[in-house]
Amino acid sequence: MTVKRVGVIGAGTMGNGIAQTCTAAGLSVTMVDISKDALDRALVTIGVNLDRLVKKEKLSTQDKEAILGRITVATELSAVADVDVAIEAATENTALKLKLLRELDGLLGPDAILVTNTSSISITMLAAAVNRSEKFIGMHFFNPVPVMALVELIRGLQTSDETHQGMEALARQIGKTPITVRNNPGFAVNRILCPMINEAIFVLAEGIATAADIDEGMKLGCNHPIGPLALADMIGLDTLLAVLEVFYEGFNDSKYRPAPLLKEMVAAGYLGRKSGRGFYQY
Ligand code: NAD
Repeated sequence: MTVKRVGVIGAGTMGNGIAQTCTAAGLSVTMVDISKDALDRALVTIGVNLDRLVKKEKLSTQDKEAILGRITVATELSAVADVDVAIEAATENTALKLKLLRELDGLLGPDAILVTNTSSISITMLAAAVNRSEKFIGMHFFNPVPVMALVELIRGLQTSDETHQGMEALARQIGKTPITVRNNPGFAVNRILCPMINEAIFVLAEGIATAADIDEGMKLGCNHPIGPLALADMIGLDTLLAVLEVFYEGFNDSKYRPAPLLKEMVAAGYLGRKSGRGFYQY
């Protein structure tokens, strides 16, 4: 399977990073968003990211222009009809994704692979909504996409070996390292990470250690580049709570219960960096 043309649906935080990464690897990218503003912002973001690389002499001006020249943008989904792979990276909303994926399924050529970048919705359930279930897979990128080396490939129950191998090759082609995960709430990385952060919040709430000491402990004791509470502030406490609730309900297991302090902080509007206050002040 040779991938030359990629469609990216959704030009937000993840979409523009995915588009930049694919086009930097030589692929042609069509980026679609319902919002013209989002597309404009995405192109500015990609331009700024590439300028930074030019400044650091990691990219020539000529290559930068070539990369930008391989991206086209559109507000109509039909613009991706002829791509080899369509990567859906629109807003995390089940109804919206089901509608988008069904539309894409009807538009794309019979051999095209349909990919979603969802962080929390079941790949098996989304695959069941399209006719090309065996050509459907989750490709979970990490933020910021141009910097983070990992891609989780999430196989739904229906995903074929051919689709999986094709997307493993695509991940490598765009400079990422893929790991393979069976569909389950939180996939693998968030399934491990979020309960760890939740435990750090329990430890704080029980007065076992201060926030600064918990973070220092995990940085110096476990070689983590950032402490769990500072990371929670970065992710956003509302997002973290939503993820933990998906685990709690998805597994029906009390070990995933969100820390009461997390719930209270979200209720207070202390959401981390984005609200100026979380476990730390910003
Ligand atoms: P975002 O809000 O930054 O961007 C979403 C974009 O989708 C917006 O520009 C919006 O206009 C667009 N959109 C909405 N409806 C659309 C439609 N019908 N057609 C085309 N575009 C549409 O969101 P994001 O953070 O980039 O997240 C996108 C996806 O990536 C979500 O599924 C999320 O779970 C997943 N994800 C996010 C992160 C993260 O750290 N932000 C990490 C991994 C995966």
